Amino acid sequence: MADRDGVIWFDGEMVPWREAKTHVLTHTLHYGLGVFEGVRAYPTDKGASIFRLKEHTDRLFQSAHILRMAIPFDKETLNEAQRSVVRENNLDQAYLRPMCFYGSEGMGLRADNLKVHCIVAAWEWPSYMTPEAKELGIKIRTSSYTRHHVNITMCKAKANGNYINSMLALREALDSGCEEALLLDNEGYVAEGSGENIFIVKNGIIHTPELTSCLSGITRDTIFHLADEFGYTIRERRITRDEVYVADEAFFTGTAAEVLPIREHDGRVIGSGRRGPITEQLQAAYFAQVTGKRSQNPEWLTPVAD
Ligand code: PMP
Repeated sequence: MADRDGVIWFDGEMVPWREAKTHVLTHTLHYGLGVFEGVRAYPTDKGASIFRLKEHTDRLFQSAHILRMAIPFDKETLNEAQRSVVRENNLDQAYLRPMCFYGSEGMGLRADNLKVHCIVAAWEWPSYMTPEAKELGIKIRTSSYTRHHVNITMCKAKANGNYINSMLALREALDSGCEEALLLDNEGYVAEGSGENIFIVKNGIIHTPELTSCLSGITRDTIFHLADEFGYTIRERRITRDEVYVADEAFFTGTAAEVLPIREHDGRVIGSGRRGPITEQLQAAYFAQVTGKRSQNPEWLTPVAD
């Protein structure tokens, strides 16, 4: 990953990819206090365009606000940085990684002289899952790890350190032959995947957990808009794992995972054992939306071209 051509935006400058380095005493590397985003740019008829850039940047600033981290750039600058890394790396589609982290100016939990550094990297990452997975769905398991409790960490912050929990859950799922984990909250109700929100469909109604300990997903919000347009009701409520077992359809949403059907959970086949019709309709609309093939919400796409 580190050894490739291209540029990374680093504290206001475009730096050659191989030179975008930081010291081993980088504070965030030691204690995990940093914030980041995962953003995608898609090919559209106006060239590569970033999907819901404003919302991602807003969430980055909210994450920093929660953690009391002062980002030394304004939103406009970081939005421009994201447009320019896609442009300067000549990408027609991209995954973008803005991140803000504390530098190596001090060590220890009490360090009070830390500088906040910001990067934006972009690279081609066509799909998180195979085309078959998008159609047939994936196999998931309930994690033995609980999703963070709201008073243990700040669940609304997309914070670097929060992802230890996600990685433990994901690795356990992969080790047991599944493709993703489903984490329950500390009371045993369904929360989310390692990096995705979850939806289930039962008798034509869509259900999704309340956000309580989940990240407020931007893809989740997009699904709310699309479902509303198609006349579906979405109920945000507590969901148990056995409701997922007997759902007609289930799917994950996330910037990386996009709209991903779930075909099996804890060895139970869900619905027909492949992508269900409502999932298919929402997934198709999502892909049309992100690639600028729908007329609704044109403000969600920001072309990277000047
Ligand atoms: N939950 C978690 C824990 C995540 O990391 C992500 C990915 N950012 C999501 C949900 C989905 O969020 P989004 O749709 O904004 O990518």
